[in-house]
Amino acid sequence: MSSLFTKIINRQIPADIVYEDKEIIAFNDINPQAPVHILIVPKKEIKTLNDLNIDDQEIIGKMFLTAKKLAVKLSIDKTGYRTVFNCNEHGGQTVFHIHLHLLGGRQLVWPPG
Ligand code: AMP
Repeated sequence: MSSLFTKIINRQIPADIVYEDKEIIAFNDINPQAPVHILIVPKKEIKTLNDLNIDDQEIIGKMFLTAKKLAVKLSIDKTGYRTVFNCNEHGGQTVFHIHLHLLGGRQLVWPPG
């Protein structure tokens, strides 16, 4: 069965898409935790960070470059932002198709809860 995010990629579920290319899609999080909260998702379905393999090095790099470009576009690059991958239960992962959270637009606390 395809993941929730594959359904967004295939336009079976609507999303507020902010960026898309051949390999990556990015859309606003449905439950934003900050004024900017975007999910950057590879079109390749990879369940968790534990499932990454050597062939995925490039896509992970592209995800971070996309985060940087979106941060500049949304003018949060100077004030700052956070990028997060959650992995499995203790990491707080709820959607099992890897995604990079881009959070910004307010002071973020550290350490996270
Ligand atoms: P994680 O907990 O790291 O797996 O993150 C999953 C994220 O997906 C959460 O921040 C959710 O708010 C977000 N989310 C779940 N369903 C949707 C959806 N249909 N559209 C956009 N974001 C979603």
